[in-house]
Amino acid sequence: MEKTRKSNKRLQTAKALSQVVAEYYQECLAAKKTGKPVGWMPPMNGAIEIFYAMDLQPVFPENWSPVCAAFGLTPGNFEISEGMGYSRDLCGYLRNIIGYINGPISDDTFPLGGLPEPDIILSPGGGCVPVMKIFHALERRFPDARVLTSDLPQVAVEDIQEHHIDYAVAQIHRLIEFLTHTTGHKLDPDRLAEVVRLSDQACALWDEIMGFRKVIPAPFSAAEMGIMFVMVTRQGTRTAVDFLGQVLAEVKERAANGIGVIEDEKIRLFWDNIPLWYNMGVFNYVEKMNGVVVAETYSAAWSLRLDTVNPIRALALKSLMSYPLVSCVSIKKRREMVIKACREYQIDGVILHRNKSCVPITLGQMDIKKELEQTLDIPSVIIDADHMDDRNFSTAQFQTRMDAFMETLHERKTARNT
Ligand code: SF4
Repeated sequence: MEKTRKSNKRLQTAKALSQVVAEYYQECLAAKKTGKPVGWMPPMNGAIEIFYAMDLQPVFPENWSPVCAAFGLTPGNFEISEGMGYSRDLCGYLRNIIGYINGPISDDTFPLGGLPEPDIILSPGGGCVPVMKIFHALERRFPDARVLTSDLPQVAVEDIQEHHIDYAVAQIHRLIEFLTHTTGHKLDPDRLAEVVRLSDQACALWDEIMGFRKVIPAPFSAAEMGIMFVMVTRQGTRTAVDFLGQVLAEVKERAANGIGVIEDEKIRLFWDNIPLWYNMGVFNYVEKMNGVVVAETYSAAWSLRLDTVNPIRALALKSLMSYPLVSCVSIKKRREMVIKACREYQIDGVILHRNKSCVPITLGQMDIKKELEQTLDIPSVIIDADHMDDRNFSTAQFQTRMDAFMETLHERKTARNT
C-alpha cells in the first residue's frame, strides 16, 4: 500500500462527486468575477444557510485543505507555513491554509482554479484554537476584508440551556445585520425558510443514506466519505438535495440486491476521528481481510436535523451543536454516540485514529476504548497518523497493526460461532 492513495469507490454517484466539487469552486470564482460578495468562514454552523439565503458566496478554507490533500498539494503549502515559523505539531488544516494563502493563492493554474480572495471574513470566537488562529491569520493576510468575529458559548451538547440558544439567536441576528450593512443584500424570510428546509432535507437524506450501512453486507464503506463535501459546502441548496437523492437511490438498490462492498463481508469496523485525506485507500486495506469500515464518528456531524418552523432558532442551535458533537467539548456525548453506533451497525472492532494534527477530536479516545471493552466487549486498535500530513503516517506500522487486529477479530468471531 502506498503512503498516499485514493480509495477504490463502488458507488457510481460517489464517482460523480468530482463534477459537484468542480462546479462549486467554479461558482466561487465566478462570484468574485461578477461582484457577488465572497465570505470565508468555518464550516459546521448556521452561517452557510444565511449566506445562500442572502445570495452571498460562502467559502470554507478548512474544506479546501482536504481538496489540496486529494490533489497531493499539501507538501508545498506545509513548506511555506513551516518556513514562516508554524510548528509541524500544529493542525494540518492550519498549516495547509496558511501556506496556501501566503503562496499559490494567486496561481491561476492551481487545481480547480484555487480560491477567490475574501471580501468578508467570519472569524470564529469559539471552536478549537487552531481554527481561531487560521482566521486571525486570514485577517492579517486580507486586511481589506470586512471582518465579523462571532461570539458563541462553547458548551457541551448535553449542557445546552435555553439562555445559550437565546444568545446564539442574537448572534445570528448580529450576523444578518452585519451582512446587510456590508453588502447591501437583504434577507428575505421566505427565502431563508426555503434554504433551511433544503438544508434539513439534506440532513434527512444523509441520515437515510448512512442508515443503509446497517444492512449486511454494507452497500458502501468509509472509502466513499467524500460525499460529505455537499454537507460542508452546499447545505441549504438544491444541489445537495439532488446529489444526495441520487446517492440514496443507488445505495437503496444495492442494499435491496444484497450488493456489498466486498463479496464476503465478515468483519464490520468503526473508524473514530477524521480520515486520512491524502490516503483514503486505507479504508480499502481491510477489504482483503474481509473487513469493511461501515460507520465513523465524523459523519455524525452532518446529521443534525433543523426545525424548519423556526429557521433562525434552528441555525442558532446548529451553530451551538455541530462542533461539540465531534470534539472534546462533548466527550460524554461522543462516547454515547460511538457505543450506540457500534450496537446499531453490529460492529466487531473499532479503529481509533490517534490524530497528531487534531487534539480536540483525539481527546477522550481512551475513555471510548475502555467503554467499548466494558460495555460491549468490542476490541479496538489505535492507529497513529494525521489527517493531513503524510509525514506522520507510517504505512508499515498501519499494516502491521491492522493485520494483527483483523486476525484477532477473525479468531473471536470464529470462536463465537462454534
Ligand atoms: S477541530 Fe481539529 S482538524 Fe479541525 S481545525 Fe481544530 S484542530 Fe484542526
